[in-house]
Amino acid sequence: MLSNAFLTLALLAAPAAEKAKPATNTKDPVCNMTVDAKSMTAEVRGQAYRMCSKHCVESLQKDPDKYLNKDGTPKNAAKAK
Ligand SMILES: [Zn+2]
Repeated sequence: MLSNAFLTLALLAAPAAEKAKPATNTKDPVCNMTVDAKSMTAEVRGQAYRMCSKHCVESLQKDPDKYLNKDGTPKNAAKAK
């Protein structure tokens, strides 16, 4: 059940042998925009994240600690529920 966006990005960003955990975030960790299953994804440390744009993917991968907690959850996800 991989989306085309996921496959495309996986090829561009990380031809990874290991599979990342599927993205569950509903907000872009970088810009806080709402994202969904059709959004592109980025992989950081074996976890996939839905992202709104390539620009945010680059920001996330450049400085993941700025946007992600140590356990991999996006910092902006705390109040999501
Ligand atoms: Zn974004």
